[in-house]
This record gives sequence, structure tokens and C-alpha cells, in this order.
Amino acid sequence: MVSQSPDIKIPATPVRAPSAVPVDDAALPFEVASLDLRGRLTRLGPTLDEVLTKHAYPPEVGKLLGEAIVLTTLLGSSLKFDGRFILQTQTDGPVSFLIVDFQAPDRLRAYARFDARRLKPGQDSAALLGKGHLAMTIDQGPDMSRYQGLVALDGGNLEDAAHEYFLRSEQIPTRVRLAVGEEWRGGEGPKHRWRGGGMLLQFLPKAPERARQADLHPGDAPEGSIAHTVTEDDAWVEGQSLIATVEDIELIDPDLSGERLLYRLFHERGVRVFAPLPLRAQCSCSREAVASMLSSFAAKDRAEMVKDGKVVVTCEFCSSVYEFTPQEAGVE
Ligand SMILES: [Zn+2]
Repeated sequence: MVSQSPDIKIPATPVRAPSAVPVDDAALPFEVASLDLRGRLTRLGPTLDEVLTKHAYPPEVGKLLGEAIVLTTLLGSSLKFDGRFILQTQTDGPVSFLIVDFQAPDRLRAYARFDARRLKPGQDSAALLGKGHLAMTIDQGPDMSRYQGLVALDGGNLEDAAHEYFLRSEQIPTRVRLAVGEEWRGGEGPKHRWRGGGMLLQFLPKAPERARQADLHPGDAPEGSIAHTVTEDDAWVEGQSLIATVEDIELIDPDLSGERLLYRLFHERGVRVFAPLPLRAQCSCSREAVASMLSSFAAKDRAEMVKDGKVVVTCEFCSSVYEFTPQEAGVE
């Protein structure tokens, strides 16, 4: 993209104006080399709508699960192998469990469990979650090591949990913004659509001492000790103040291109975008996989699944319904 400041040297890569064409269902990697910043911008349209609409969730639950999906695309789309990134929460709030399963390079599926009796109008995502933990699992396939990172959910939202995770586990200065909204349209076609967007910004200087971070939770300090002030690097202070100006509407606006948004934030410093990574809603369930799962159950459990002369299994991710005769399900 173009830098308007004459003081900034741009590397010898092609410079062009930001595209005004919005690209939905993709993660756009970017770099602000002069500030040692790297990031991703995700915009989700039909893909998010497809995942959420299959479940007919109450709007607050859909919004929370949508935020988890956006966060997953920001984190999972950096996987370089054909692996899997799974984000789950287990908490004591009205939404007791949610899972987003991202299978590289582009497949997404998700669902949430909630207690409808505990939902109240106007509950925000933090109130819906309550307290518990968020787990992120990277699975590189059979016979490969599995990595799991855990972070406490302590009355905050998913952005807070992501910040906590990067501060403690990765020690990479990171800010995340997530937004999900409902779009209401007149005329032909569907009247209601879900949209989502998010941004991840990370400070990755060559000299590691520049990545010192200020805000470890004060609860860690022994009582009576003097708080020790860390001065954050100017480049990271600038990066954080820029991403803090991003409004929810900018992340989900169907008419604002991601490149235009990045240009608004970083044009003075020069920002470089890379090829967008497409994302789509697709479940990996199949009749064969369900049949094989049934065959792994004890005969007694299979027998108990017979209702009205058949065994019916519904995929929690995509709501697909699989019907088997007792014979096909291996019931004697
Ligand atoms: Zn499915």
C-alpha cells in the first residue's frame, strides 16, 4: 500500500493503492515493517452465517460463538501444516461449553451448549461465559505431538482471554479485536445475516528485549512489594493505540474493504498485505464416520439408542441427521 509520509522508506516491493473491493470469508495477513508489527485481519460473511444459522441460536449465543469463530480464524489460519486448531471453553455461565474446530487450510465448524433458562436479554459475552477456562489445541494428526494451551476465563470476554494467553504462554505482545453483528436487509433473499470480523496485531521485534510487556496481573506480586514499571517499546505503544481505534462496525461493515481498514490504521507507516487465506464452513462428519463411532460403543449402549425402531444420530456441529436401522447400527 502507499505511504504518504516522505520520511518512510518503503522496501522495493510493488506499491499500490488499497483495494476498495471487500473480500469476505478470508483472513488477510499483513505487516507493518517499520513498527515490527505483524497481524491478520479476518472478515466473515456467508461462512459465519452458515455455521450459526444451522443452529438457530438465541442472538446472544450466536454472537458469542461467532466471536469464538473469528478468534479461531485469527489464530488457526497461521498453521503451516495440514493440522487442526480447536478452541473450546468450559465455564459455569449460561453458555457452558463451546467449540470451534478449524481444519487447515480452510474448514470451519462450531457449536455451543447453553442453558436457555439462564439467558437474559442484554447479557454480554463475558456474562454468558462466566468463569472457567479456555483451551486451545493444535493437533498435527496421528502420531504427532499435540499441543494444548489453557487460560483461565475469569469474568472477562474472549479478547481478554486471548491477551492473557499470549502474555503468559507465548510472551508475544499481542492485541486482538473481535466483532460480530447481525445484518438486516430488505428486498429479496434472506432478511437476516450474521457477519463477523477481527484483527490480531503482534509485536515481533528482532531484538527480544524490545518485547517487554507492562501488564502482568498485579495479583502475581508478593504483598508489600513495589510495583515495577516496565517501559513498553514506542513501536508497540503506537501499534496498540492504533488497533484500539478500530470500531466494531469497521470490522463487520460489508462495504468497507479490509485493505481500506488497514490503510486507515497504518498508512503513515506503510503496510504490506499478503495473499488472503480463504475460509469456509464445512463439517467433516459422514455416515461412515458415525457408523464407525456406533460400532465402538458397547452393545448395551447401542441397544439403548434404538427409538421407534431406528437409531438416529445428529451431528452437533452441523445438525446433519443420520438414521440407521437397528441392524445397521449393530444392535442384535
Ligand atoms: Zn457434521
